[in-house]
Amino acid sequence: MSFDVGTLYAAMVLVFALVGLLLIWAWIQKEGGNALIWWAASFFVSTSGVVLLGDWDVLPDLWSVEVALSLLVLGHGLIWAGVRSFAGRSIPWFGILGGAIVWMIAYQTQEVQGSTDDRVVIMSLLAALYTAVTAWEVARSEAFALRAGRAAFGLLVLHVLLLGLRIPVADVFPLPFRETSVDLHLALLTIEPMLFAVALGYMLLVMTRERMERRDHMAALIDPLTSILNRRGFFEAAGRVRSRSIKHSEPIAALLLDLDHFKRVNDTHGHAAGDEVLRASVARIRETLRTHDVFGRIGGEEFAVVFSEVDETDAQAFAERLRARLAAEPVVWRDVPIEVSVSIGVAVAGASEKRVEALLEDADRALYEAKRRGRNCVVLADTRRRPIDKPAGGPV
Ligand code: GH3
Ligand code: MG
Ligand code: MG
Repeated sequence: MSFDVGTLYAAMVLVFALVGLLLIWAWIQKEGGNALIWWAASFFVSTSGVVLLGDWDVLPDLWSVEVALSLLVLGHGLIWAGVRSFAGRSIPWFGILGGAIVWMIAYQTQEVQGSTDDRVVIMSLLAALYTAVTAWEVARSEAFALRAGRAAFGLLVLHVLLLGLRIPVADVFPLPFRETSVDLHLALLTIEPMLFAVALGYMLLVMTRERMERRDHMAALIDPLTSILNRRGFFEAAGRVRSRSIKHSEPIAALLLDLDHFKRVNDTHGHAAGDEVLRASVARIRETLRTHDVFGRIGGEEFAVVFSEVDETDAQAFAERLRARLAAEPVVWRDVPIEVSVSIGVAVAGASEKRVEALLEDADRALYEAKRRGRNCVVLADTRRRPIDKPAGGPV
């Protein structure tokens, strides 16, 4: 198969520029930060490099070789910069420009000026180095947690391998430079980067969007006042814990906590004081919890905790620790101490297949009982008993 050099260069210019425009477009749509600008810049810089390279028949070597190839190296550096920016890291200017500088220095030697294949080797080494560093940057950043990030990583590694392949190919098939029809070797130098550019541009866009969607999803699961899971987040996470515990036939406990006479706090000290009591209470509960416990704010001053592998005695003792912790010291709001206490309903599901919702209903009945007994206490649900009839306006 043979390709026309001019057509290949023109196609490359169009492809690089198009990917650059798509990245700019995504950036204008606010699809996730300045990384997109770095990547777009990389594609435009590479476009200019290819334009100069393709005009070798009319331009002096200074432009069509020296400057053109330094722009292509810089293009690789800018992809790396974009990944650094995506990961929230600093932009290493010297590293980004370093490759182009190394190329310009190498070009001053007679050997490199006289040998196209030497240029291919130097360029391929520099490009492979940048691509490998970029892949490593992806692998050690948050990007790797994203599906598109892992795909981008795979693509970068493949590109490093193909760039490496250019070196033996340059040895075996010297480049038929300045001819109008090309062989496999020039295809490796033009078609591979083109396909790589399209695939990488696409992956970077998807990766950016995936992270945004993930952040939106996370934000929708977090309570803004206390920064713990909201009702939706709690039920999602607790559902996962429950499914695991059913699968492994482990018991699971649910605690339902409701701050006592919280309306009084608002009425006496104001809503801002109420908010501070909520935040401080959450902080104290969090201190007492273990990392795997699922904790969420499921109502105004109501919280729930779910944890597995416990029996009723342990769950009750744990709830008692939480209760005691909150009652131990008042929350201080603008130098005014505000007494806080909590009532807790505890329910434990043994080998049963009871879902989290049903378990929380049991805990809710126990909580109601705790309020009835005078508040600031823990009550274990008696799951064998029929539900206590609740008058309207109960605690949950
Ligand atoms: P009980 O001991 O029976 O639970 O009494 P309570 O006063 O705690 O219960 P009630 O349900 O009557 O009142 C809850 C109050 O919580 C009413 C509501 O204004 C307040 N509240 C709900 N969400 C927030 C919030 O985000 N911030 C503040 N400051 N108050 C809130
Ligand atoms: Mg309350
Ligand atoms: Mg309540």
